Amino acid sequence: MKLNGKVALVTGGSRGIGSAIALKLASLGCDVAINYAGNVKMAEETLAGVKEYGVNAAIYQANVANYDEVESMTKQIIKDFGHLDIIINNAGITADGLMMRMDQQSFDSVIDVNLKGTWNVCKSITRPILKQRSGVIINLSSVVGLNGNVGQANYAASKAGVIGLTKSLAKEFASRNVRVNAVAPGYVKSDMTAKLSEEITEKVLENIPLGQLGEVEDIANAVAFLVSDEARYITGQVLVVDGGMAI
Ligand code: NDP
Repeated sequence: MKLNGKVALVTGGSRGIGSAIALKLASLGCDVAINYAGNVKMAEETLAGVKEYGVNAAIYQANVANYDEVESMTKQIIKDFGHLDIIINNAGITADGLMMRMDQQSFDSVIDVNLKGTWNVCKSITRPILKQRSGVIINLSSVVGLNGNVGQANYAASKAGVIGLTKSLAKEFASRNVRVNAVAPGYVKSDMTAKLSEEITEKVLENIPLGQLGEVEDIANAVAFLVSDEARYITGQVLVVDGGMAI
């Protein structure tokens, strides 16, 4: 797989899965724009790692939930790099709680970042990418978006929404040679899952046929395949990367 000459935007590229995706794409020769929300130190660490592959890269602070910030970021990236070919909508948050206790703020914030944030980025690049007549979008969903989960009504709704958005855009953009797919990770070791108690992690492990949590690189490898030309005939799909958890 080669991505030389391509430019990718990875939202939430400062840490975890997003950072691993940025590094993987760079290792394949892709230039990378790394978005982050507030963690400039981690964004700079990812940037340094990406640059070790000899590609062009830069970091961009923007809250994906804010359309104006997203639009100025994507405009700036296109100005800086000349074009944008690969968009990875990875930025995401959780605010878990049982429905009895979940307040409106917890619902709204998760929908705003995970679903509206993905829509914001897609909307801001729709015109240039369709005009370009080539491009690939990957949206990070979750097995929770497919199956639901106790204590994650907000998160599950946001990630199920991402799947509907992915399939609709795949249909809308296909005639312009723009592919849109989703990747649905299971439980992957990152800051997001580090919050879970040992008891919950043990329970999760019991339901993973491959018997281990995923590594961020497992998701990055799946994303790299989907953005490559090897996947040129794949669009509108949800690739589940979960050690068999959702079977
Ligand atoms: P982390 O919590 O480790 O990292 C989250 C990333 O998103 C950070 O880079 C953070 O930036 C960024 N971010 C958060 N809010 C915003 C915002 N409003 N605007 C821009 N960037 C933002 O998460 P993971 O790496 O674990 O998850 C990455 C994606 O994968 C998410 O969409 C998540 O829902 C999904 N996923 C993860 C799973 C897992 O098991 N880990 C399972 C299924 C799906 P900053 O560093 O600046 O705060």
